[in-house]
Amino acid sequence: MASETERAKRVAVVTGGAAGIGQGYALQLARDGHIVAVADLGPADETEKLIREADGEVFSARCDVADADSVAQFAAAVTDRFGHVDILVHNAGIYPIVPFAQTDWATWRRIMDVNLDSLFHLTKAFLPGMEQKGWGRIVVMASATFHSGPAGMVAYTASKGGVIGFVRTLAAEVGEHGITVNAIAPGLVRTPGTLSGPQQELGLFDTLATMQAIKRAGVPEDLAGTVSFLTSDAAAFMTGQTLVVDGGFARA
Ligand code: NAD
Repeated sequence: MASETERAKRVAVVTGGAAGIGQGYALQLARDGHIVAVADLGPADETEKLIREADGEVFSARCDVADADSVAQFAAAVTDRFGHVDILVHNAGIYPIVPFAQTDWATWRRIMDVNLDSLFHLTKAFLPGMEQKGWGRIVVMASATFHSGPAGMVAYTASKGGVIGFVRTLAAEVGEHGITVNAIAPGLVRTPGTLSGPQQELGLFDTLATMQAIKRAGVPEDLAGTVSFLTSDAAAFMTGQTLVVDGGFARA
C-alpha cells in the first residue's frame, strides 16, 4: 500500500463547511493533505481563505444538501474538477429548538430533509466512485442528543437517530469495498449556530460544562482530530460506529 505521502491527494467533500464544526473539519482535512470541496448554502470565503493560508487546495460551491438537484449540480462540478471523491463528510445540519407541540409539518420536514435525506442525495452521488476505487471514508454528524434526549429537540434527535441507523447499516454493505462509514456525536459546541440560538440564553454552555469530565464548552477544534482519524488509513478496521465527543458528559 502506498504511504500517505506517496499516493495522489485524496479529495474530501465537507457539507456545511462554511462555518462552525464543518469549517474546522475542512481546515483539518486540508492540513491532512487532502483537496477539500465545500458544499454550503452560503459562501465559504472564510473557509477558502483559511485553507489557502495553510497552503491547502480548496473548492467551494453553493449547495442545498436537502435538494436533490442542487446536490447533483455540486457533484457534477466536483467530479468535473477532480474526477473522484474519496472522503465524504456529511456535516450540514440544522437544530431548531422547539417543543413537539409547536413543531409544524414544514419544520419537521425541513429538519429531516437537511439532516437525514441529504445523506441519501450525497451518498448516492459519491459512493459509486469510492466503490470503483476500492477505498472510501464516509463520516456523518450525529449528536449526543440522541443519547440524552433533551426536551425541545424531538425532530432533531429523531433525525440524528436516523443518521446512526444509516451509518450502521451502510457500513455493512460497503465494507467489502474498502469503505468505512462512521458517525461523530458531539456534545454542545460553540459555533455560529449554537451561539445565535437560545443555547446561550438558556445557560447551556455553562450548565453542561459543569456536568462534563472536561469542564469547558466544546469548540470546533475539539472535533477535528476525530474526523482526521476516521478519514485516515489508520481507521481502516473501524466502521459502523458512533464516536461520542462531548468532553466526557456521557461516560459509557
Ligand atoms: P452551524 O449552524 O454553526 O453551521 C452549519 C453550516 O451548515 C453553515 O455554514 C450553514 O450555512 C450550513 N448549512 C445549513 N443548512 C444547509 C443546507 N441545507 N445545505 C448546505 N449547507 C447548509 O452548525 P454547527 O453547530 O457547526 O453544526 C454542524 C453539524 O454538527 C450539524 O449536523 C449539527 O447537527 C451537528 N452538531 C452540532 C452540535 C453543536 O453543539 N454545535 C452538537 C451536536 C451535533
